[in-house]
Amino acid sequence: MKKLINTRKVNLATLLTVLVAASVILTLLILTVSFHQSNKESLMATYLSLNYSKADKMSHSVESLFGSMRTNLESTVEFLETHEEMTDQEIREQLELLRTSSGYFNSLSWVDETGLVRTISPVSVGLEGTKITSGVTKDVLDSKKPGVTTPYFGPTKRLLILMNQPFYSKDGTYRGMIGGTIYLQEENVLNHILGNDAVEKYGSYYFVVGPKGTLLFHPERKLIGESVYQNPIVQKLTHGKSGMELVTNTKGIPMLAAYSYVPGAGWGIVQQTPYSSVHGLLMDQLQQLLLNGLLPFLLLLLLSIFIARKLAAPFIRLADLVNRLAEGKEVSQPLRDKLMEPHWNREADLLTKSVAIALDLLEKNNQELTQSALTDSLTGLPNRRKLDEVLNRWASEMQLFSLLVLDIDHFKSINDTYGHQIGDEALKTMAAMIQTIIRKQDYCFRYGGEEFVLLLSDTDALGAYHLAEKIRERIEGFQIIRGKTVTVSLGLSEFPTHANSVDELFRLADQALYESKSGGRNRITISS
Ligand code: GH3
Ligand code: MG
Ligand code: MG
Repeated sequence: MKKLINTRKVNLATLLTVLVAASVILTLLILTVSFHQSNKESLMATYLSLNYSKADKMSHSVESLFGSMRTNLESTVEFLETHEEMTDQEIREQLELLRTSSGYFNSLSWVDETGLVRTISPVSVGLEGTKITSGVTKDVLDSKKPGVTTPYFGPTKRLLILMNQPFYSKDGTYRGMIGGTIYLQEENVLNHILGNDAVEKYGSYYFVVGPKGTLLFHPERKLIGESVYQNPIVQKLTHGKSGMELVTNTKGIPMLAAYSYVPGAGWGIVQQTPYSSVHGLLMDQLQQLLLNGLLPFLLLLLLSIFIARKLAAPFIRLADLVNRLAEGKEVSQPLRDKLMEPHWNREADLLTKSVAIALDLLEKNNQELTQSALTDSLTGLPNRRKLDEVLNRWASEMQLFSLLVLDIDHFKSINDTYGHQIGDEALKTMAAMIQTIIRKQDYCFRYGGEEFVLLLSDTDALGAYHLAEKIRERIEGFQIIRGKTVTVSLGLSEFPTHANSVDELFRLADQALYESKSGGRNRITISS
């Protein structure tokens, strides 16, 4: 269960990595989206204004074209009016000259007041000598006014528009009209002037509408002559307005459209680009941006992850260290030194130092605790616990040593006579004295009460006896309690000569002490 909870926790390095990666990715995303948004708007504005300037230019061209066409017709009519003597043949030649030199009209004809086609250029139209009795041509003739028609199917079944100029004799009688046609679905002056490459790059194209919203020019020629009045832009054009906007055309396709009105003709010119091509262009740019940005982005990501991991490393090391300590595991000094290395990050460094201080303190406290657990508080001598430890160690190493048991003689009566406090003082003085006599490698323990145990390293029973004698003499001669001679009795055994087990060695020394006591005290007995 504990393990399960542990595995569910998220590692700091992973957390930081995910956080950094997420922010970098999010930044790129926001950049991309805002780039896309602003580019979309500027591209749309660019296309609209480009289209508008083109439509406007075309509108001016058509306007001046119309003026020239009208002037041409007027001057021809004026010429014919001043030269009434001209034969039909001569008039045809005149019309032929005008048609070929200007290139404005697909055909030029003289239709007299009765509707008879007196002459037509080119002759190939085949209408010369025929009489027009009805239809738009007849209506225009009868109106006796100059004008331009909307598209209609003429006598030769061609879709055309007709520009006419009435024609009078000097005495004021109506002689019919001079009419020029533009064949909308064939090569004509309009597509010659505006350009025939109707569909450009990115799907931009233009179309021309007549006064009632009828198509005069469109890249799809079969649409010419049809009404597109339902297109909102066309409606604005028929009301004489110009402008630009994003519209949905008659086919339901969104278009960046600019439209310009041609006042002289009452026509309108629309130049437009499908919105989808701007979108396509944007996608291309976006793809390019992503391609160019990918490598630096990846580098940035890797760098951020690297730094995040470096930043997390000391915290992870500390967490692992504390975890090891909590589990009671050993932490070796080299490992500890490595964990406690200074760090460039302020918090990591502070935390590392604090943990180091806390660890040292902990260790010191531990040592003190251990020390006090092994020390007798009255005399400062190592106690029985320490004795067990040293004794077992020496025995297991099978080294030669001697064990001495020392007991103060008649200590009960000292206590009774001088009081417990003096008794304690005597114990302290004796402990200090013994320690000055033994060597550095020897031990003196307070075994309990007024009994001491000595372990003499690398010393046989005889050597131990000499040392014991020295102690006994010194204590006897010193007067530990002023005015009172205090004596001690000792028993000693040698390891491993007398016994090769600790318990047996002890038992023998105790027995020797007992013999010293029963033998009259103030003496030493070697275990036999
Ligand atoms: P002997 O050993 O010569 O047979 O006689 P003894 O009077 O010393 O007898 P025993 O060893 O049985 O008595 C031990 C006495 O030591 C009992 C107690 O009053 C005293 N004693 C034990 N521990 C302490 C201590 O820490 N302080 C003081 N003041 N007295 C202690
Ligand atoms: Mg005793
Ligand atoms: Mg005693």
